[in-house]
Amino acid sequence: MKGKVIIFSAPSGAGKTTIVKHLLSAFPELEFSVSACSRPMRKGETNGVDYYFISIEEFKQKIANKEFAEYEEVYKDNFYGTLKSEIERIWKKGKHIIFDMDVMGGLNLRMQFGDNALAIFVMPPSVDHLEQRLKSRETETAESIARRIGKAEQEIIKANLFDKIILNDTLEHALEEAEKIVFDFLHKK
Ligand code: 5GP
Repeated sequence: MKGKVIIFSAPSGAGKTTIVKHLLSAFPELEFSVSACSRPMRKGETNGVDYYFISIEEFKQKIANKEFAEYEEVYKDNFYGTLKSEIERIWKKGKHIIFDMDVMGGLNLRMQFGDNALAIFVMPPSVDHLEQRLKSRETETAESIARRIGKAEQEIIKANLFDKIILNDTLEHALEEAEKIVFDFLHKK
């Protein structure tokens, strides 16, 4: 079976991971697509759960083998991509897929899946707010934060290319809106 796909994109630090985790617990018919990535594993992350952590060489080999539905070099030498095998794995279980990816990857997948896809952009209340969140996460260096903020400004410009925009002003509001949007999409004829 070919299920539906729900794509969440947002600047780093906008809170999309929290929203995606909430939706996964609210909708048992959804499963998270685990991406492959070439960045080092962070403290608290698990291989095969958060990402399939692979080397840059392995990543490039998989690009050459055409194993990705989409991939991006999100930051220099940090590749992230969706394996075609991951999509098949989830659909075989009869589930719909939820993706967490950068804006370019999200728009790319949205185009590939057409009406079977819903692309949602999570908007942070402001860029200053994003910077504060990234700092409080304590997983990023000052350089990585600056890179992520620069990219965020570019990504926000593309928000109106998405099917829906959720403003993450308060988490409670964002979660409620996300649930409603996903419910409507999963149940529409
Ligand atoms: P992080 O390093 O913070 O986990 O992720 C950095 C960025 O890469 C985030 O915007 C995340 O959504 C994005 N990302 C994660 N997986 C994928 C993927 O499979 N494809 C693309 N294009 N971006 C991804």
